Amino acid sequence: MGRDAQAQTTGRRELSFAVIGAGMSGILSTIKLREHGYSNVTIYEKADGLGGTWRENTYPGVACDVPSALYSYSFAPNAEWTHRFSSGAEILTYLEGVAASNAVPGSVRFGEEVVRCDFVDGRWHLETSLGAHDVVDVVIAATGVLHHPYIPDIDGLDSFAGRTVHTARWDETVPIDGQRVGIVGTGSSAIQMVAAVADRVALLHVFQRTAQWVMPQENPAYTDGERQAFRDDPTVMHALHEDISEMFANGFSNAVVDAESEGMRMIEAACLANLEDSVTNAELRERLRPDYRAACKRLVVSPDFYRAIQHPNAELVTDAIECVEPEGVRTANGRVHALDVLVLATGFRVDRFMRPMEVVGPTGARLSEIWADRPTAYKSISIPGIPNFFMLNGPNGPIGNFSLIEVAELQFAFILKLLERLRSGGCARISATAEATEAFEATRVEAAKGTVWATGCRSWYLDDRGVPAAWPWTFQRFREVMAEPDIGDFDLKG
Ligand code: NAP
Repeated sequence: MGRDAQAQTTGRRELSFAVIGAGMSGILSTIKLREHGYSNVTIYEKADGLGGTWRENTYPGVACDVPSALYSYSFAPNAEWTHRFSSGAEILTYLEGVAASNAVPGSVRFGEEVVRCDFVDGRWHLETSLGAHDVVDVVIAATGVLHHPYIPDIDGLDSFAGRTVHTARWDETVPIDGQRVGIVGTGSSAIQMVAAVADRVALLHVFQRTAQWVMPQENPAYTDGERQAFRDDPTVMHALHEDISEMFANGFSNAVVDAESEGMRMIEAACLANLEDSVTNAELRERLRPDYRAACKRLVVSPDFYRAIQHPNAELVTDAIECVEPEGVRTANGRVHALDVLVLATGFRVDRFMRPMEVVGPTGARLSEIWADRPTAYKSISIPGIPNFFMLNGPNGPIGNFSLIEVAELQFAFILKLLERLRSGGCARISATAEATEAFEATRVEAAKGTVWATGCRSWYLDDRGVPAAWPWTFQRFREVMAEPDIGDFDLKG
């Protein structure tokens, strides 16, 4: 019996799924789909392991500046976190553990990238990098945001005779100890790495194009007693998750969306005091002092960057990079910084999302054309004209200042409600309407102008027009919007 006929006789449709990406949100999707009775789920992962961002980012010092109790699935609290903020390796172990205990790995096709999705006769036809084909009812794009490394266009970059490596493609064979290391950039990745390697290298040259505000943040270890209490009583962990979630939302996430808020002033004061109190040399302090508002760029959190940059091995280089030569980096003042290792901590192409995968909707509309100017989506989740295709952490969503796990969980709960419409036979296709998407986007863009991200700095938050490509409202509002789909905003066909 065909699927449509099945729906007509039983009223219910068995749906099959392709989840693209086996990172944090792909693991989440698979677990949640199964929990809701969807058993036909295949995960496509182009790499050979789980964990997404935390598999890719293994540079020295990699950690998460969102508290671990919050950067955890709500359904899998972890009593074993060693510190308030965890290392990348610890988070990867956690994700692998959650995936294993929910039998996720058996459903993953590793080393297979989905290169194309065509919606034909009501179903998605997938083609993979291995030339394989699959046909499913629903695609979940769990492909991440900070995924495609940005390689700067620096003259002579390929001519460097030493090792060149991007932080997000770290290679364990890159030597650090006793080496002359250059790090390009002063974003979160660079700052974490500087603090981790300053006392291991022979010398460390940090090429700073723009100074950063740095929020000091201690990272205490959980005691054995605390961990035992988490193990003994799950409500203790739950309470901690709730407390930190509220503290994080009120103290930080909600402050940055209102450039004039009291919270913003407190963040600015803390960063300023950190600079004044931590950097003793007045000349260095001035070179580290940003000329834009704190948190305009994604705020850097570090208890020890200022200590590290003042280490005798370290030098802050503020002359512009002119080119890279076989020996090292030449700066505009003519100086050649001789190096063994050149680290590009230069961030990501954040407008790519699941591209270069091509997605072709039922009328022949192509994602590459729909997103030719810039990526947009209805509430980050659905694209008009691309039915039965949903994104987690898609365009213009809450990024940077929240726990992306919490965000993905809320988004997936919303998607599950839409899926129920498909499963119940209420409709065969569902995607946001163009009108609702345009209206959402217009309101979002207007609100984004009042955020601290729009107060005058260069950052990856800004799209090609200089508009912050992010959720510009409070986290509370995000929760409310994700609580229940406004079904009038969707095209329900068939
Ligand atoms: P990023 O914030 O985009 O920083 C890139 C850095 O490279 C900037 O300092 C930038 O300078 C510099 N840069 C780029 N091109 C350059 C060029 N041609 N010459 C000189 N400098 C150049 O990248 P990221 O540090 O990888 O962080 C990206 C995001 O990942 C973060 O904002 C955060 O959301 C996430 N992240 C999170 C954590 C965490 O703990 N949760 C850790 C790491 C990363 P300008 O400032 O002048 O543009």
